Amino acid sequence: MSAHKLDGVLVAETIKSQVAGRVRELGDSGIRPGLAAVLVGDNPASRVYVGSKVKTCEALGLHSEKYELPASTTTEELLLLIARLNADDAIDGILIQLPLPAHIEARRVLESVDPGKDVDGFHAQSIGRLVQGEDTLVACTPAGVIELLDHYSITVAGAHAVVVGRSDIVGKPMALLLLHRHATVTICHSRTQNLAEITRSADILVAAIGRTAMITGDMVKHGAVVVDVGMNNVTTTEEAARIFPAAELQSRLAVIARRGATLAGDVEQRSVIDRAGWLTPVPGGVGPLTIAMLMKNTLRACEMRRDLSGRSREITE
Ligand code: NDP
Repeated sequence: MSAHKLDGVLVAETIKSQVAGRVRELGDSGIRPGLAAVLVGDNPASRVYVGSKVKTCEALGLHSEKYELPASTTTEELLLLIARLNADDAIDGILIQLPLPAHIEARRVLESVDPGKDVDGFHAQSIGRLVQGEDTLVACTPAGVIELLDHYSITVAGAHAVVVGRSDIVGKPMALLLLHRHATVTICHSRTQNLAEITRSADILVAAIGRTAMITGDMVKHGAVVVDVGMNNVTTTEEAARIFPAAELQSRLAVIARRGATLAGDVEQRSVIDRAGWLTPVPGGVGPLTIAMLMKNTLRACEMRRDLSGRSREITE
């Protein structure tokens, strides 16, 4: 039997409509949550991400400002802009699109964001609070995965959750969130021995690796919940034929012919779909949730800063 789909588009739409509703309510009191998105350099993928974040703000009624700075921008210049945004009352969330150019001191820049406006959850204070299990702004992608599991009433407490990937922005916060939900968590990475043996024991498997279709069917327990965070470009017919289910292949090849690439995750859908109990598609899984959670975090930052959170508990908890 094929895995049930964990539909990120559906859950993202639900979150966004809740955010839009609350933004309308706040508007009646003259409050409009605002997000500043800062892009340095001309990475085309980053430009697309920032564009869609700003567009989503507009669609949900949030105020947004986009700052596009040249690749030659210095750390000091960026710090000055962030100081200005920290002091700007119209801005509740500050997003620094990563990666930053190599000459910029990324950690120093991220630490300069007011933790109250840290809608990406990358500030050391946000991470520290997350480790302690305190209420805080949490990195959007792993927070979105939790929303997805909740939406489908997946039982996390007591489950063995295996997170493949230990990055600061996905793997580590993901593991902590699952731990706080009382999963028994194993974190795997490039030096892990016997990876397949560990992943096969996972009730919940989260792949955040950045390697196309690395998790294959034989690495997955029958009936497991599999969440594919990876976003990789597939450009050849041979690779597409190897990783996508037969039913999808023609449409995937059409995308490659039209755009030069189609998006694939870290999970080999073709072999995993008949093993897993639940599976996220790529695209349409975790990706849309990341943007939805950024909107939710911006609303939340606005409410926390203005001490309004008690009035919208149902969507911030
Ligand atoms: P990073 O490159 O920062 O981290 C990748 C992790 O995977 C590292 O911890 C690395 O281990 C581990 N890894 C690499 N190769 C192997 C291997 N052979 N076996 C086991 N572990 C391995 O990536 P990110 O965490 O930033 O992103 C991961 C993926 O998720 C990417 O495809 C990215 O595009 C995608 N992504 C998707 C988002 C979305 O919205 N859907 C948002 C953010 C990311 P080590 O630490 O030892 O090097």
